[in-house]
Amino acid sequence: MKIRMGHLYPDYLNIYADRGNVAVLARRASLRGHELVVEAIGFGNDLQPGAHDLLYIGGGQDREQALVAGDLAAKAVAIESAVAAGAALLAVCGGYQLLGRGYRGLRGADLPGVGLFPHETVAGERRMIGDVLLECELEPGKRRTIAGFENHAGRTRLDTGAEPLGRVVAGFGNDGESGYEGCRVGRAIGTYLHGPLLPRNPWLADWLLAQALAHAAETEPPELEPLDDTLEANAHAVSAQRARARGGRF
Ligand code: GLN
Repeated sequence: MKIRMGHLYPDYLNIYADRGNVAVLARRASLRGHELVVEAIGFGNDLQPGAHDLLYIGGGQDREQALVAGDLAAKAVAIESAVAAGAALLAVCGGYQLLGRGYRGLRGADLPGVGLFPHETVAGERRMIGDVLLECELEPGKRRTIAGFENHAGRTRLDTGAEPLGRVVAGFGNDGESGYEGCRVGRAIGTYLHGPLLPRNPWLADWLLAQALAHAAETEPPELEPLDDTLEANAHAVSAQRARARGGRF
């Protein structure tokens, strides 16, 4: 099948090689006989209803966020409708912040958000930098871990009752104190983890692909054929070990 992906502002929001996540999705799709068709969505480009099975937005510094925030907020209804209709979405760091209600930077920038994720972000003085390990359960009974790297000044506070992506085992997470990281709304997930995220967490790449395929084929998410993930498992283990040893400290 063709999996139609919309990549929001690829030229602006791409730090720590967040674009590597797209390469992982494309490769893992093609190994299962599917094709990831990527469309860049930038300034003034409309999101057509139903046109994407998967949306992706990477991270960026405050400067890049300020450049895209207004244009992105103008796409709020289209993004929310896409997710409500079952499209999958991955948002990383700066993109994750802007998909909430808004982001207030240290030097006063007050950026509007999309309002997809029920959260607000305000920057603090000290950056939260380091390796992170999460435990999450995207499907009841299937507990798995996500390992990655975070670097953010923003403290993201989830609304009461909002669903986080995972519980912090090691690292700072959303705000350094709640014990939670990321946010989930249906098939949309947002996270601070980059560096990139998917090469060392292949199960998460497959989860996103399965959700996108479910949207494309109007079926339940399919079971994807397993791949040899020996290298990926090693990368995950190294990253998880680093997080346990030194994540989440100023
Ligand atoms: N504005 C963000 C911050 O909190 C962006 C971080 C990022 O994408 N690395 O620092």
